[in-house]
Amino acid sequence: MSKKFVYLFREGQASMRDLLGGKGANLAEMTNIGLPVPPGFTITTEACNDYYALGRNLPEGLWEQIGPALGDIEKATGKKFGDKDNPLLVSVRSGAKFSMPGMMDTILNLGLNDETVEGLAASTQNARFAYDSYRRFIQMFGDVVLEVEHHEFERILEEAKEKQNVNYDSELTAESLKGVVEGYKRLIQRRTGSPFPLEPMKQLEQAILAVFRSWNNDRAIVYRRINSIPDNIGTAVNVQSMVFGNMGNDSGTGVAFTRNPSTGERVLYGEYLMNAQGEDVVAGIRTPQPIKSLEDENQAIYAQFVETSNSLEAHYRDMQDIEFTIERGRLYILQTRNGKRTAPAAIRVAVELCREGVISKEEAIARIEPGQLDQLLHRRMDSEAKLEVIAKGLPASPGAASGKIVFDADEAERLGHTGEKVLLVRTETTPDDIHGILAAQGILTSRGGMTSHAAVVARHMGKPAVCGCEALRIDYAHNTVTIDGVTYPEGTLFSIDGTTGRVIKGAVPMIDPELSEEFKELLGWADEIRTLKVLANADNPRDAQKARDFGAQGIGLCRTEHMFMDPARIPIVQEMILAQTLPEREVALAKLLPMQEEDFYGILKVMAGFPVTIRLLDPPLHEFLPNVEELVVDITKLKLQGDREEELNEKEVLLRKVRALSEMNPMLGHRGCRLGITFPEIYAMQARAIFQAAARLVKEGYEIYPEVMIPLVIHVKELAKLRKVTEEAAQTVMAEQGVTFAYTIGTMIEVPRAALTADEVATAADFFSFGTNDLTQTTLGFSRDDAEGKFLPAYLEQNILEHNPFAVLDRIGVGKLMKMGVQLGREANPGLKVGICGEHGGDPSSIEFCHQIGLNYVSCSPFRVPIACLAAAQAAVSSKGQ
Ligand code: ADP
Ligand code: MG
Ligand code: MG
Repeated sequence: MSKKFVYLFREGQASMRDLLGGKGANLAEMTNIGLPVPPGFTITTEACNDYYALGRNLPEGLWEQIGPALGDIEKATGKKFGDKDNPLLVSVRSGAKFSMPGMMDTILNLGLNDETVEGLAASTQNARFAYDSYRRFIQMFGDVVLEVEHHEFERILEEAKEKQNVNYDSELTAESLKGVVEGYKRLIQRRTGSPFPLEPMKQLEQAILAVFRSWNNDRAIVYRRINSIPDNIGTAVNVQSMVFGNMGNDSGTGVAFTRNPSTGERVLYGEYLMNAQGEDVVAGIRTPQPIKSLEDENQAIYAQFVETSNSLEAHYRDMQDIEFTIERGRLYILQTRNGKRTAPAAIRVAVELCREGVISKEEAIARIEPGQLDQLLHRRMDSEAKLEVIAKGLPASPGAASGKIVFDADEAERLGHTGEKVLLVRTETTPDDIHGILAAQGILTSRGGMTSHAAVVARHMGKPAVCGCEALRIDYAHNTVTIDGVTYPEGTLFSIDGTTGRVIKGAVPMIDPELSEEFKELLGWADEIRTLKVLANADNPRDAQKARDFGAQGIGLCRTEHMFMDPARIPIVQEMILAQTLPEREVALAKLLPMQEEDFYGILKVMAGFPVTIRLLDPPLHEFLPNVEELVVDITKLKLQGDREEELNEKEVLLRKVRALSEMNPMLGHRGCRLGITFPEIYAMQARAIFQAAARLVKEGYEIYPEVMIPLVIHVKELAKLRKVTEEAAQTVMAEQGVTFAYTIGTMIEVPRAALTADEVATAADFFSFGTNDLTQTTLGFSRDDAEGKFLPAYLEQNILEHNPFAVLDRIGVGKLMKMGVQLGREANPGLKVGICGEHGGDPSSIEFCHQIGLNYVSCSPFRVPIACLAAAQAAVSSKGQ
């Protein structure tokens, strides 16, 4: 017996998403809780996978199961598929486990042909409706299955409208529509060389195969890549009896969210169109009505819809995105799913559902995708700024963006890749524009509502969008847009504000973000739940303050090289490097000492009460010297002038030193604690500066926790030696100042040997901090810049590596060294504190791993602190659940 490939809606349930896809599983669930869902069945994702495994052939037994399932629908509806008096019509809808909007356009009204259309006209006594359905079917089937260009059908429809002298398709008469049908059929014959298939069973078979094929069309592949959806899970196919929103003015179709997907506010939010079918609302063909006006149009239906949407939200315990159709005053539900939402909405919905007692704090935390919070921590338009507002559309996706306007997705992508900031401006977008949307800063459309393709995709990607801005007259032929009589060419700088819908000429000043009340509340819950501490990487008091504002519990990495780069200090730093003897060098260091002391004083003070981990000098010294080319040019010029002997000498000395310091491979060269080994006086000065700042602050009554961190250690002896240098500085300062203060000394673990000998290293360390940028470089033998610029893309493309290891921690390789480091280190030194300060410290997946291997803290850039707090809480929730 063959596998079960076909499930009637009443045989499935919500938990069967893997097999039935998200849409199919939810249609089944809604059927079983008694909602008005038109009957139908789902062909499993397994059938799709078998189809590919069989070299694109229908799996055996599938077709045999479809007949009885169709029979079941016939019985339920009292109609017959292909019957010329009372024909059953169906929709064919794709639906993978994860929603992939617009992967394959749905085919509606399947089963119509020259005979059944007459039956439909007679049985409904509505020839206009019957031919409208027929022409829609041929168009969708022609476009999706036979791959005849969409716009060729549109042209025929436009001609019919012109001929009848009307604006909208809904105004075409039955006669006109008959003409359109004939035109469509001729078009298909011309383009495909065969007539339009009239046999309903053939239509169904071809449509099902087209859905399977669509799993591997370009836009589906791109969508999966962007959203990290696996390629091998396949799509299900839903076959469902039609209900008709295009039967007249007591019929219609719409889409609604149970809460506002932009803000999260608890109000029904959506749109509908009367006398319209399926895609009309989302495709932005006519501009739809807000859902609220349905109340005026038909109060009973509105009330029923409100009740249904409330019960769906209660059932799924999350905000729902619902598709519905009204057929002659009766409501049908065609789809529900957890609604896509902006980051602010995600937070507000989760927090409010928790307050309403629907979900727990843990669930609220788990509902937020930490990466999505990025957009909240970004900038928005300065409301004080004077703006030249030239148009207004719908606020479809919040946030603000400025860029050069372009009218084509390919062009947006091309310019985007060169680093240009662009706004994609279109009448409406389709799934074929995805790559352009991805490359653009924001989207502006002249048609379509809040649920149009552009709006949905932009919200999901966290890009600002203004839609339905009807004042725009876009001229694709000349690449211009005209607004109120003024014409702007491609490349004009515009700004859009997706929060208010404003379109602005020119660039606009932006301001820094603040956390909403709900966000703060959610972070409060995260703090109760997480066990990992979250610290920040900051090199100056301003960043340290920002980190505090965002809730950082200290500084996990304070780099000191930026302090040396200060233009006022560079001459002194160079003097120190060029010194021939120790006494000479000490003269220069003595000048740097008070400057460094001020640096540390400022940071320790802002972070009073929290640890501040200060890393001693790390980069190779030549980074502080001018580069060879510049020097050679200067020297040549000076020689030609011939009158500035002294300057020439200085430059020549400098050049010799630069050449002497130049390295074959600076990443593996004379840097990190190797500097401290060869020039202990540099580290001694830095340690002294830290402790002098500490002594001052203690005297002023501050509670401070300096932690001195030695970089790039490979051997316990390096650390032991530099520990002694540091301790001596501490003792000296305490004696001089007559105060005591606590401090610790630790090391970064960023070379495999340090991790492998962590038991030895730990005997000289109070803490370890994994420097995973370097640890990834040294473990993989990649230099990051070369890898990312040259060969890493090929590794990702060919699936040799799943992620960029510099963005997402390589758990199996680098992670194994970390695990070993933690374990060996704690065995030798049970009190050892362990954290991470590489960029991975701000990446949610890497944070989860850090939690799992028992780190004490993660440290990341200040603006990622809230993301890290949430990710740490999620890691705690999911490890508790196991
Ligand atoms: P998508 O996954 O792109 O949203 P859908 O399969 O949900 O595609 O269908 C697209 C549109 O067609 C929706 O508006 C839906 O409501 C409508 N539709 C699908 N099936 C039917 C049906 N049986 N009767 C009426 N409308 C339908
Ligand atoms: Mg849908
Ligand atoms: Mg390093």
